Amino acid sequence: MITSFNPATGETLATFAPHDDAHIATTLDRADKAQQQWAQLPLAERLPHLLSIAQTLRRNKEALGRIITLEMGKPLAEAIGEVEKCAWNFEFYASSAPQFLSDLMVPTAAADSRIVYDPLGLVLAVMPWNYPFWQVMRAAAPVLASGNGLVLKHASNVPQCALALEGVFKEAGLFEGLFSTLLVGADKVPALIEDARISAVTFTGSTPAGRQIAATAARALKKQVLELGGSDPFIVLADADIAQAATLAVKARFQNTGQSCIAAKRFIVEASVADQFVEAFCATARQLVVGDPLAASSTQGSMARLNLRQELDAQVQASVQEGAKLLMGGHALPGAGAFYEPTVFDHVLPHMTVARDETFGPAAAILRVANAQEAVRVANDSPFGLGAALWTRDLDQAHRLSRQIQSGAVFINAMVASDPRIPFGGIKASGYGRELGMLGMHEFVNIKTVWRGPNKT
Ligand code: NAP
Repeated sequence: MITSFNPATGETLATFAPHDDAHIATTLDRADKAQQQWAQLPLAERLPHLLSIAQTLRRNKEALGRIITLEMGKPLAEAIGEVEKCAWNFEFYASSAPQFLSDLMVPTAAADSRIVYDPLGLVLAVMPWNYPFWQVMRAAAPVLASGNGLVLKHASNVPQCALALEGVFKEAGLFEGLFSTLLVGADKVPALIEDARISAVTFTGSTPAGRQIAATAARALKKQVLELGGSDPFIVLADADIAQAATLAVKARFQNTGQSCIAAKRFIVEASVADQFVEAFCATARQLVVGDPLAASSTQGSMARLNLRQELDAQVQASVQEGAKLLMGGHALPGAGAFYEPTVFDHVLPHMTVARDETFGPAAAILRVANAQEAVRVANDSPFGLGAALWTRDLDQAHRLSRQIQSGAVFINAMVASDPRIPFGGIKASGYGRELGMLGMHEFVNIKTVWRGPNKT
């Protein structure tokens, strides 16, 4: 069974029988037909559907936010904000798709040579629970706008979110089946990737699962985009605005209860300002209110599952053993929910667990370094390469260092965030390919050359 439970209380909310093979086959057939019809529509006729999806999301944001909070434990205000961001993404692609998908004329010897963007077909989306609406909708908007269909296999702990997403598309009046949810376990993913009706796969989740999906997709020769784990550095140089850096550092680490791929996880601080930064960071982190995610007063909710809390706690205890200095937190909170204290380590060394591994929860690692060059070296000393933040008032230095940091994005004097207007993705063990922006949209299209003779002499 696929079980929906409330991680803040331990209560079971609903159980669902996984979809069987017959249901999967019917769903794929319907999705395939819907996609073929959808692809025939001129782009201008697809765009109102995108706006209708945005309107449906905005109209239902409180109810949808509540489903998110009940299933994965984030504060309700953050959940509602997540739904609004999904609406923005659909609005953005409704206005930008004509530009992103317009023919690109290329001067050659041909009478006319151009690049056109055709749909690929059905895209399988295998998605995680941490932003259960955003992760899906950031993939869905460009995929659908470009004439594809999308089949969702969501994480098994958010089945109600998966069904609610399907409900949004129904209510918005999209072609039936064009966006379909399959309630299945991870064991069904290889067969889905291999199915002839699936043309490509977009995966967001852990690096180990990404490797397996990549191998299956490679064997089937299907296009894939992998958005995997991260251990983002947040570099603070001596000339930075320390107060502002510390305030945003706390947000960057603890929002979504620390369960974000682009959360800042390693705070790499020049030694001359480290005491000042640590004091400001801890003062702000102490103001976090951990509690019932439905209560307006809570700024940190529950982690999404008890086993995830256990994994985080094991990393925290290992780091204590390795000699990291625990400044605050470090324990699970008693009671039925999966709550964990906001945790801060100082004097972390790069080999320690809390710096080496991805910590997917409310635990911050502060590493002290001698200078900017060492900061970049330590930042790059990680298997991951998703995002990075860099704080300094010297903007020439900032732009120079930004080119030396091994990541898919560098945010200067800001925290890393995803934004529909700019590409998002990683390098190294954080995956490959991009989502969002024009480049994200071009991942799941057939970039087709059309050449018309006679050639010029
Ligand atoms: P996960 O265990 O990899 O699960 C993600 C999805 O993949 C779920 O739908 C899961 O299904 C499925 N899955 C798991 N193992 C699989 C396998 N071997 N083959 C095929 N599918 C498989 O990840 P998670 O714990 O849910 O999410 C946390 C991870 O995601 C973190 O590492 C985080 O950094 C990463 N993440 C990355 C981004 C990004 O944009 N780069 C964004 C968010 C999260 P079941 O639930 O049924 O097992």
